[in-house]
Amino acid sequence: MTRRALVVGAGGLGGPLALALGAAGLELWIVDPDVVEASNLHRQVQFTPADVGQPKAARLAAAVVARGGVARGFQTRWTPDDADDLGEAMDLVVDGCDDPGTKFGVADWAVAAGTPYVIAAAVQLGGNAMAGAPGAACYRCLFEAPAPALQCATAGVLGPVVGAIGGVAAALAIGLVRGDRTHAGSIFVFDDLRAGADPRIVRFQPRPGCPACARAPVATRRAESA
Ligand SMILES: [Zn+2]
Repeated sequence: MTRRALVVGAGGLGGPLALALGAAGLELWIVDPDVVEASNLHRQVQFTPADVGQPKAARLAAAVVARGGVARGFQTRWTPDDADDLGEAMDLVVDGCDDPGTKFGVADWAVAAGTPYVIAAAVQLGGNAMAGAPGAACYRCLFEAPAPALQCATAGVLGPVVGAIGGVAAALAIGLVRGDRTHAGSIFVFDDLRAGADPRIVRFQPRPGCPACARAPVATRRAESA
């Protein structure tokens, strides 16, 4: 059975996520509202100067397809309202966008759907990747609510940082989709990749009364129906 993954964000993190998951044989739906800008090329290495002005989602999907994978791109901003149209019957959800509110929405939606997920973030010299699965502590258990955060577009990010964290996020995602729950409910934190590449791996407990996961499924939906 072909596994299908939703990739939210086709930029610096979405690029390595999609290329790795596509090469691993997952069918991808890639969602991003933006077009490629010349200022993206130093960190979004899936794109070339010929892609400038083109939709990121479609160009990243084309990069996956060019490498033998299966992917579709959707030039739209992911919102909870159309999530079921874009994400129905997904085996995995990964997020590499740079909008805190969207990251919470993606995580909450994955939790409610009983779908394993990875939420990745990077800015300046570090970042993090959090893995979640039914029954484990969720993204909202850890962060509670969106907070103002530095963003790559304004604060900058060292190009290789997104590649490194995107790769870690992809490895976590491939583990989850294969049923490996070793890191479900954990976050890998990289403070400064110039100083060292070892993450702090923090496993956290479900927060009692968490509005996202307290009443969510405790088993993967498609695993139950398979
Ligand atoms: Zn929770």
